[in-house]
Amino acid sequence: MVMVNSMKKTREVQRLVAAHRQLEGGGFVVRRPFPTIGIQQVDPFLLLDELGPIDYPAGEAVGAPDHPHRGFETVTYVLEGENEHEDSAGHKGFIGAGDVQWMTAGKGVVHAEMPSRRMLEHGGRMHGFQIWVNLPKRDKLMEPRYQELPARGIPTATSADGLAKVKVIAGDALGVKAAIETRTPIAYHHWSLQPGAEVRIPLDATFNGLLYVFAGAVKVGDDSREVKDGTMAMLGLGDEVLIRADRPAELLLLAGVPLREPMARWGPFVMNEWKELEEAAEDFQAGRMGRIKRAS
Ligand code: FE
Repeated sequence: MVMVNSMKKTREVQRLVAAHRQLEGGGFVVRRPFPTIGIQQVDPFLLLDELGPIDYPAGEAVGAPDHPHRGFETVTYVLEGENEHEDSAGHKGFIGAGDVQWMTAGKGVVHAEMPSRRMLEHGGRMHGFQIWVNLPKRDKLMEPRYQELPARGIPTATSADGLAKVKVIAGDALGVKAAIETRTPIAYHHWSLQPGAEVRIPLDATFNGLLYVFAGAVKVGDDSREVKDGTMAMLGLGDEVLIRADRPAELLLLAGVPLREPMARWGPFVMNEWKELEEAAEDFQAGRMGRIKRAS
């Protein structure tokens, strides 16, 4: 008798990590599940920061003034508020509520990520995410590039029962495919769940996967492990993720093929060898990553 195993294996929660609070840039607080002690990365992801939600009084909003990056990608997703961006290649962008900026730093850019002039003057609420995605060795010194998606350009889908909504920033979900092109296969979803929601999300078995809950709580896997607000769940192996919600919940699902390459990391540079970090620092110091040219 031939046994045909067509059963999908559900990914269970392998580890729960509570986000810690960390001061970044010009002095803003983020919730950061990783990197943290003992978790340098969740290959291929290098960092996950939740900025806010914070209500800035007039004149008090802060951002991250001119700084370099090399060897990876920074992905900014704004939920509330407005960010302005400019860089050493003369690129300027505005990232408003619901917008995504996927920046491939490649061989190096110097950029500034600041609240908009309007937010600086009048204050307002800021809430969003920045994740860092590692680049494979072959792409670390590629030409920098941007993919900018306005909120209306991000594919969304709703489950048949209407209880689960997803914005597909990378990868695919509920039959819709992201507009972003990634260097290695990545899934980046924002799920909004209503009480009673139950979703099964197929995820390639070769992907590392994690969830980060930033409102409410969900139950994950056949084990029904509870994952609460401000907590990352690192997922075990399998073909799909099962998520249920008893109350309203918001979460990010991040997954991707691990690069499994040597990593040398120092601040804004992520390379494969220490020697390459020294080169990055030298290139930055010597101005070879450029500088931001301002009229005033
Ligand atoms: Fe940056």
